[in-house]
Amino acid sequence: MNLTRKLYYENLYAREFDTEIVNQFERDGKFHVILNKTLFFPSGGGQPCDTGFIDGVEVLEVLERGGEIVHVLAEELENKKVHGVLNWERRFEFMQQHLGEHLFAGMLYNLHQLHTARMRIEGDNVSIDIDTPVKEEIIFEAEAAANEAVWRDIPVEVIYPSMDEVKTFARKLPPENAELPIRIVKVEGVDYVPCCGVHVSSTGQVGLIKITSFENHKGGTRIYLKCGTAAYRWLASLYNEVRKAESELVCGYEGINEKILNLKTQIKDLKIENEKTLEKFLRPLAEDLIKKAKNKIVRHVMKNSTQDDVKHLFRLITEINHEAVVMLANVNAGGVFIMFGTNRENKNIDVRPAFKKAISILEGKGGGSAFSAQGFADAGKSEKLDEALDEALKELER
Ligand SMILES: [Zn+2]
Repeated sequence: MNLTRKLYYENLYAREFDTEIVNQFERDGKFHVILNKTLFFPSGGGQPCDTGFIDGVEVLEVLERGGEIVHVLAEELENKKVHGVLNWERRFEFMQQHLGEHLFAGMLYNLHQLHTARMRIEGDNVSIDIDTPVKEEIIFEAEAAANEAVWRDIPVEVIYPSMDEVKTFARKLPPENAELPIRIVKVEGVDYVPCCGVHVSSTGQVGLIKITSFENHKGGTRIYLKCGTAAYRWLASLYNEVRKAESELVCGYEGINEKILNLKTQIKDLKIENEKTLEKFLRPLAEDLIKKAKNKIVRHVMKNSTQDDVKHLFRLITEINHEAVVMLANVNAGGVFIMFGTNRENKNIDVRPAFKKAISILEGKGGGSAFSAQGFADAGKSEKLDEALDEALKELER
């Protein structure tokens, strides 16, 4: 059997090619095409496949099956002789990402003998898994070293050495079922690794390698990085966001963190201040409401207050008088808020039946426990509030 000739290994930078169809068949409404040679790289080794067009028909997916390259197309091809065009931006970015990954993983190995168990390129993101926990400073040390390798603009070589040589020099061994001879991607003095992927032809073309995050993963560490065009795109959007923050906070980016910490402290202080003010206004009201309560039932409707005010008043009443049963409501532009309850020590009271009655009259939503229930209704239902509280009161008095 003649296997597909892999033009993508022969000329990394070719974007178009002429070829002939060896076989074409339909499967699940799509057309699987085998060519006698191809520039379309199939997905493999963590690198996604190329996409593009063959005779103007979109190539949706490219797979390797037993040494043959299968192109999955949306439509059937009419001619035997065809012309293929790669989606070049996608391919070039994957070549940058893939070599960037080699340089970073190579540095983790060279500096700390850390093995990359798995790598994957997904869109703009590269992730690698290391089986052991990796310290933050080691990740950034390898990032810096990998970027230095980029600036040295070292040529990338593809070699097919003997298995003995592979075993001596490679940072990881090829899988047992790997095709022979083993394909090694070599960056002199930096990395030597078996790989079936396609990469830019010199380290300088990676441009930039940037770690974007890392996390614990199955007892080891998963590290996310971006390389080349994807890294540039990420930094550009990051800078855009930073500029907005700089403008809002009226400072340079070095000052953003300090400004945020100051704001957080100010908010905390204001909350304490606000609690004190609320207390000053709400305590006399709470005492007054308890005094006026009939059968220890406190009923009170607030206007244009906040939910926090209602909750604060509720807390005050139930703290001052443990036996008080409370029906509070607030009406503002946002809607109707109701809160029923009692002190949690008041075990023989269950406000839920009364609450359910009220909230169903208001056609609202909510719920809670025997000693505290709360709910909302649309602002338009405020005219039904008196009726709802009347019916709830009857239920409580039962
Ligand atoms: Zn690789």
